[in-house]
Amino acid sequence: MARKRIYEIAKELAISSKELIAKLEEMGMPGLKATNTVDDDEYSLILSVYQEDVAVAKPKERQRKAKKKGVPRAPIISVLGHIDHGKTTLLDAIRKSHLADKEAGGITQTVGAYQADLHGQKITFIDTPGHKAFTGMRARGAMATDIAILVIAADDGIMAQTVEAIDHIQAADIPMIVAINKIDKPNADLKKVMNDLAQRGFTPEDWGGDTVTVPISAINNEGIDDLLEMILLVAEMEDLRADPDGLLEASVIESHLSVGRGPVATTVINQGTIHQGDCIVVGSTHGRVRALLNQKGEQIRKAAPGTVVEILGLQQVPQVGTPIEITKNITQARQIAASRSAKQATEHRIRAPLSVEDLFREVMEEQKLRLIVKASSTGALEAIHHELNSITVDSIELEFLHTGVGAVSESDILLASVVAKNCLVVGFGTKPGSKVTKLANREGVLILSYDIIYELVEEIERSLKQMVPPKYEEMKLGETEVRELFKVPGGVVAGCAVTAGKVASNAKIHVVRGNEQLFTGEIMSLRRFKKDAREVQSGQECGIRIKDFDSIQVGDKFIIFILKEVEP
Ligand code: GDP
Repeated sequence: MARKRIYEIAKELAISSKELIAKLEEMGMPGLKATNTVDDDEYSLILSVYQEDVAVAKPKERQRKAKKKGVPRAPIISVLGHIDHGKTTLLDAIRKSHLADKEAGGITQTVGAYQADLHGQKITFIDTPGHKAFTGMRARGAMATDIAILVIAADDGIMAQTVEAIDHIQAADIPMIVAINKIDKPNADLKKVMNDLAQRGFTPEDWGGDTVTVPISAINNEGIDDLLEMILLVAEMEDLRADPDGLLEASVIESHLSVGRGPVATTVINQGTIHQGDCIVVGSTHGRVRALLNQKGEQIRKAAPGTVVEILGLQQVPQVGTPIEITKNITQARQIAASRSAKQATEHRIRAPLSVEDLFREVMEEQKLRLIVKASSTGALEAIHHELNSITVDSIELEFLHTGVGAVSESDILLASVVAKNCLVVGFGTKPGSKVTKLANREGVLILSYDIIYELVEEIERSLKQMVPPKYEEMKLGETEVRELFKVPGGVVAGCAVTAGKVASNAKIHVVRGNEQLFTGEIMSLRRFKKDAREVQSGQECGIRIKDFDSIQVGDKFIIFILKEVEP
């Protein structure tokens, strides 16, 4: 029986997969995904019902329903994965076979990003693969990527950096497409990769899960079209739109100093439009856009959402990941840039590395401690995981953002700095290098290193406990009954008989009248035979003055108690 995929049917009907899926849900076929298949009968049913529906709906109505704010824009894609799994080869293969606006014999330059084209639909690729670049951009506030491609070599499977990449993608909370590469190799094992993915909670769609997987061979140009098709599909589901007239949202994805052209910054426009002649601020540098160059190196007058452009005209080379802002005029641009440089200079001087106390204060606020743990071996990692999970302090939740074998790396620091402040990086049996330590100080990320698991667990437990405010419960000491009242300067003293237990001068007190508890406070003075007493026992009499409460009556009962700290 012929089976059709939802997106194929959507294409035939000339509607979006999203629209079709919504319609199918109305028809009583919920939970379908664009890549799911239907059989012949279902296919005919969909066609008949849908076409009827379309015929009935007035064309204008349909249009209005579909209209959302902004215009669709090209998705922006990053490629991540383990070293040597084929990220660069894949980016090259797409560039060679699908480069948009390609001219015969035209020179294509590498500018940090490029736009590919599939049946007239554009896809923008960030040309610097790897999670360090990916998270590095996010660390500076840029949200450049819409969808991540995770490359896994079919002959190697999920490796350390694959896991890292997955954690970085998840922290970014964007959709992921898995490209299973090198399927041409004799020892390629597609099933094993899919199995590994499933075991980690990423069940492939073909097996009924949510994870989109596409088998490819980057070197043989196999499956590339399928991959691009899948990207467009996922993008369509995300419904990426941008307002070309809106506020500019763009950040630097590559920058360098060119001998002839001065500082050059490449950017991908997420929203808004940048024009030649615009005055811009990029972090602490500024300038007037002298020229805009497209990916063929041609001068263009403006760049719309989804496009890649090189910007010339900045005063200095900006840092990768820095957002670009358009200002009213060059004076405003200069002023903003200058005030930022001044601020940066002072911040550098006063910024101290984050302390354990600061970190745990954040943890208390969020009720969550996020951890990135690196250890010298898998065994140690498992042990740490187990031990840390046994920590129970009040309602604090532990979340392992990323764990891996090896020393704490720059990308771990970047990940910690983008997710939140309440993130602790732990190195176990390894020491971070000086570059990593420097970056951690700059980003305000705390790294703790240990050699003994117990020390690590103890420190975390101790720090958490210190932060949890202690809990108290009342411990009753005794009871008294008010028999007489004595006026004294500024208040009243209750002459009491201790009817049970004892009264202590440092105790607290509930005043009870009938069935009602009138007041709770502290004993201000306790006297026996006109002398101050520390304690008065049951069967004896005493005078009690209560702090901030004088409306005592004969017959009132005092419950005497102390507060005792309870172990968390
Ligand atoms: P990266 O480190 O992830 O960027 O990996 P590269 O793109 O540099 O590829 C690493 C090696 O794998 C290179 O020698 C590539 O030629 C090879 N390679 C990449 N893709 C494929 C593929 O589809 N099939 C085969 N057989 N080799 C590939």
